[in-house]
Amino acid sequence: TDPARIRNFCIIAHIDHGKSTLADRMLEVTGIVEGRNMRAQYLDRMDIERERGITIKAQNVRLPWRTAPDTDDAGIVLHMIDTPGHVDFTYEVSRSLAACEGAVLLVDAAQGIEAQTLANLYLALENDLTIIPVLNKIDLPAAQPEKFAEEIAHIIGCEPDDVLRVSGKTGVGVPELLDEIVAKIPAPTGDADGPARALIFDSVYDIYRGVITYVRVVDGRISGREKIKMMSNGVTHELLEIGVISPDPKPVESLGVGEVGYFITGVKDVRQSRVGDTVTLQHKAAAESLGGYRDPKPMVYSGLYPIDGSEYPLLREALDKLLLNDAALVYEPETSAALGFGFRVGFLGLLHLEIVRERLERESGLSLISTAPNVVYRVVMEDGTELVVTNPSDWPHGKMEKIFEPIVKATLIAPSDYTGAIMELCQGRRGALTGMDYLSESRVELRYTLPLGEIIFDFFDALKSRTRGYASLDYQEAGEQESQLVKVDILLQGEAVDAFSAIVHKDKAYAYGVMMAGKLRELIPRQQFEVPIQAAIGARVIARETIRAIRKDVLAKCYGGDISRKRKLLEKQKEGKKRMKMVGRVEVPQEAFVAALSNA
Ligand code: GDP
Ligand code: MG
Repeated sequence: TDPARIRNFCIIAHIDHGKSTLADRMLEVTGIVEGRNMRAQYLDRMDIERERGITIKAQNVRLPWRTAPDTDDAGIVLHMIDTPGHVDFTYEVSRSLAACEGAVLLVDAAQGIEAQTLANLYLALENDLTIIPVLNKIDLPAAQPEKFAEEIAHIIGCEPDDVLRVSGKTGVGVPELLDEIVAKIPAPTGDADGPARALIFDSVYDIYRGVITYVRVVDGRISGREKIKMMSNGVTHELLEIGVISPDPKPVESLGVGEVGYFITGVKDVRQSRVGDTVTLQHKAAAESLGGYRDPKPMVYSGLYPIDGSEYPLLREALDKLLLNDAALVYEPETSAALGFGFRVGFLGLLHLEIVRERLERESGLSLISTAPNVVYRVVMEDGTELVVTNPSDWPHGKMEKIFEPIVKATLIAPSDYTGAIMELCQGRRGALTGMDYLSESRVELRYTLPLGEIIFDFFDALKSRTRGYASLDYQEAGEQESQLVKVDILLQGEAVDAFSAIVHKDKAYAYGVMMAGKLRELIPRQQFEVPIQAAIGARVIARETIRAIRKDVLAKCYGGDISRKRKLLEKQKEGKKRMKMVGRVEVPQEAFVAALSNA
């Protein structure tokens, strides 16, 4: 295809503003999916995505379209590149954007701009994309297109009249939007005769075909049956198939400048075909990669344990399987006195953790418990040695000189009535206000620097409840800061329970200790002896609760002589014992750990 006839674009939007629905309409309007074959959210292929209504993995599709509104040729090739919609995947979003020349900025006409809209807009601007502003859902009675067109115009510096109005649901305005994409977004340019360079913007594992890699060709041409080379590590692969998605995979001879497509090499693991890497040809290799490549970096760690200890081998198998599909996942075996055998797993963020956990449970039928997540700390000891701590149990004992924790730049958008509530929350989470703007008279954007450790601890829920769900949040990693952090241990009868240890700011240690000790007092049944629960920093106890002793007699409630009932009770008690864990002399039902951790 002549690059002059190609337009590469993505749709950026806050969650639920209608990206998937609009994409569906585009498939229909361009005629590549017939009405009767249409099913909602055609491109969201993973079950979990469809159920949760979120886009996890980018998909892309090639759409034929007319060169101008008054013609009925199909002279244009549109490539729509779907971007993952969540903060945890910022890097993948940035690579998808880098594969495009333009972006449709989609805003719900009843909601206005939200945090994710802005965060993605900033990323798009950093990549020099042409922005096409669009208000969606104009069919809604609650739509306020005039008001929100002002808001958008104000932010991107255009006229309110330049903001298109569409409905992904009814299809109104969708053909006009496609025409606008053709008219406004520049055609790709590249060196057609130079050595081939293609950007990998997505890579997915398929059980039948192995890894399917999605690329955007920048220079040169890649044909089938050639040997390709990954520029990050020099590894070469045989090309088994090269093709385009329209809307199903279709093999082609080759892909040239500006084209978007996929290839298959037979590799079985997405780590060998990484997002952000540059692909070139072995026999005529490019000298320089496209840049911007970076290894995925786990930001959040948590322990994952099977609730039923005998499922440990199953968990390992499930993780190994998931690894083929998820280049950002890291894990290693870990043992916990409280929870038994499990894994220490690294994630890109909280949503990534949730997705992984849900996939493990869903796809392998496992029941899992995860320990409270923690971020990655960097500790410089007094003797100058430096260590990276991903697990509270690795917190050093010696004299620490400096401790660093990761921070993020957060964008919050809410009706201005909630400004006070949000500021209070962010201050309580050790945030520093860096900026504040009014999007309109009634809506405000707040920018904060916050420790990531504070965000992964219940921040979304706290924000939601303080703003009745009207605030939106997005954030990006922003380096690290020095902080006064301590490790709080929770002890049962003097014995630390590893699963409950946490690294917290020193001013919050007491609150954490009191909360956990109180929770455990409620959850752990009385024993034959008194059990003290303590929270401690090193040897210093900062909070204490006590479980009073009782003499436990399961038969006490049986009045008189029903023998079979007695036997049943005794058997039940034996059953219960099996699921008890011993912490020192204290018997703790597994459920107590599960309950204490599940809403920590
Ligand atoms: P995404 O999260 O941006 O992919 O959003 P979806 O496409 O999943 O849409 C979120 C919700 O908004 C769904 O319930 C859609 O049915 C609804 N929706 C999407 N577009 C429109 C529209 O144009 N009009 C109306 N009334 N509802 C829409
Ligand atoms: Mg979607």
